[in-house]
Amino acid sequence: MLEELKKEVYEANMKLPEYGLVTFTWGNVSGIDREKGLFVIKPSGVDYDKLRPEDMVVMNLAGEKVEGDLNPSSDTKTHVVLYNRFPDIGGVVHTHSPWATSWAQAGRDIPSYGTTHADYIYGRVPCVRNLTAEELEEYEKNTGVLIADHFEAHGLDHIAVPCVLCKNHGPFTWGKDAHEAVHNAVVLEEVAKMAARCEWINPHVEETPQCLQDKHYLRKHGANAYYGQK
Ligand code: 13P
Repeated sequence: MLEELKKEVYEANMKLPEYGLVTFTWGNVSGIDREKGLFVIKPSGVDYDKLRPEDMVVMNLAGEKVEGDLNPSSDTKTHVVLYNRFPDIGGVVHTHSPWATSWAQAGRDIPSYGTTHADYIYGRVPCVRNLTAEELEEYEKNTGVLIADHFEAHGLDHIAVPCVLCKNHGPFTWGKDAHEAVHNAVVLEEVAKMAARCEWINPHVEETPQCLQDKHYLRKHGANAYYGQK
């Protein structure tokens, strides 16, 4: 079942170690078939060098396993909530990539310090609060709820801001499919690294002027985009 999607999600998972975004098994990627309402996710705690396409686990949007011999990623319930609350995304990634995770551990939004950031992410990368002890009883589900509620409460567009930091934990990214979600995880890590270095070089650095952020974001996204090829 969903053999093509399993292959795609497997390949997207394998990109995480290739891009240096995961150490050991610290990450997971999923991708969804919206027509069938089923998504495919990495099994929990399996070494990347042992992972095979047929190991991918098929889940439904109620969080039930539909196919697979292995346990799905421990973060599966977060993926479920993100797919349900952001109905136009097709892939989700979680990593503990060191630069993005450093900002998450510091509990800080990543300010928009340059056009590399503005090309992909419109405004700051938000860092959501810690879950309360009560919320931690349903940790993975409530991580997703917290992310989606934060975007709603702050009027953030999850397409224009395809990433988030969970305080003391790490990043989640998403995209139109599993590969785009991985692409955004790579971008986030680079942006996080550059922002940290930027503050070391100039502790008084200011965010990119809004008009320059707009120029860069809007030349790549939306109706009047002109970046790249037709
Ligand atoms: P899984 O191997 O269960 O996906 O866990 C990876 C991880 O990073 C947990 O936060």
